[in-house]
Amino acid sequence: MTETQMEKPSFTKLEHPTNGQCIELDGDALIVPDRPIIPVIEGDGIGRDIMRATRRVIDAAVKKCYGGKRQIEWFDVFAGEAAQETYQEWLPEDTFAAIRHYRVALKGPLTTPVGGGFRSLNVTLRQVLDLYACVRPVRYFPGVPSPVREPEKMNVVIYRENTEDVYAGIEYAANSPEAKRVIDFLVNQMGAKIRDGSGIGIKPMSEFGTKRLVRLAIQAALRQKRASVTLVHKGNIMKFTEGAFRDWGYELAREEFGKDTVAEADLKGPAPAGKVVINDRIADSMFQQILTRTDDYSILAMPNLNGDYLSDACAAQVGGLGLAPGANFGDGLGLFEATHGTAPKYADQDKVNPGSLLLSGSFMLEHLGWVEASRAIESALGETILQKRVTYDLARLLGDVPAIKTSEFATAIIENLPG
Ligand code: NAP
Repeated sequence: MTETQMEKPSFTKLEHPTNGQCIELDGDALIVPDRPIIPVIEGDGIGRDIMRATRRVIDAAVKKCYGGKRQIEWFDVFAGEAAQETYQEWLPEDTFAAIRHYRVALKGPLTTPVGGGFRSLNVTLRQVLDLYACVRPVRYFPGVPSPVREPEKMNVVIYRENTEDVYAGIEYAANSPEAKRVIDFLVNQMGAKIRDGSGIGIKPMSEFGTKRLVRLAIQAALRQKRASVTLVHKGNIMKFTEGAFRDWGYELAREEFGKDTVAEADLKGPAPAGKVVINDRIADSMFQQILTRTDDYSILAMPNLNGDYLSDACAAQVGGLGLAPGANFGDGLGLFEATHGTAPKYADQDKVNPGSLLLSGSFMLEHLGWVEASRAIESALGETILQKRVTYDLARLLGDVPAIKTSEFATAIIENLPG
């Protein structure tokens, strides 16, 4: 039975688009109409330039692949500076309601307001919408300068837990009354040994939080016919948080995906066809392995801090964050976003690389099941880079290549769309 959007939320300053339909859910699966309504947050700073370029390329790819049968109905919603102007607030409730209702959204970078009472608008969006998985596909585009010899071996998707571990961390400064109280409790009532004057940090990790993250990772592995899901942890040192993450991950695989997965430890030879191998690696070893045995790895699932480090390390291996897409997933929700910030010094100069947002858009199309359009964008982007028609950042790395504008880069990608 499908879960239909029973009632459209009423907005204070937005109108529901009159064309297009809402994406719906059947269990865990999205039901995507031919004209889905996709809320879009343009973003601050360079967001305006890269979102314009991204929408042009996505629209062109969808039109080329589906000959007008399919089309995205973009729905502009507000966050950041644009929301300040329209609503006099940074993150209006209209925006949350639109994303919840329409389920899949695209987002440019947002300024972190100074003194706005927010840690960051991005973190607030993730928390309010309970987007518990930060997902980063990392793969190589030929022609992009890379610090390693065989960057093409990298093709991983990182599933990073977004709500627990250090993101939910509790800290008390050394010598503060709170730290003294916690130390007193731990030393005198729990028998722990802690040096006087220590700062205190506590990181919670739960079975619920771990299992919902690993579930998404295994579902993706099955959908994309990937070979393995690797649980990356530091369980040799932190047994009841990181070690528990590993144990809960294996438990979930056994309990919910027993027919479709096999633990690496149970294998006597190669994995049976069609089964996803579940294995685990200690985080420090993983940093070595991703360099030395890059193509042994496929989908990686990990707690927040490991994911923070490893996402950027993997991106660096294929040429940096400029071409790194990202998304945040919750139950039935997906917010696709550029992984860099607003680079305010380049705002409105038609200068920067739209690659990260464009690849997030391509990832969004894949999530919708519009795989042909997604592949077409990736192929055209790759071809454009090989032709050395690139923005300043890649031109700088390639050396002796004239930079083209954001809008010209988008035009070049559209010209290179296959078919
Ligand atoms: P940033 O905006 O990512 O920019 C840092 C540098 O990265 C830029 O000066 C530029 O380097 C390069 N860069 C970033 N995006 C690029 C692109 N599309 N094409 C080419 N080069 C690009 O980081 P920041 O200056 O630390 O942060 C600025 C604002 O963004 C802050 O308010 C921060 O809070 C916010 N932020 C938002 C997000 C988000 O919305 N997800 C993420 C991070 C930061 P060069 O100058 O060397 O060319």
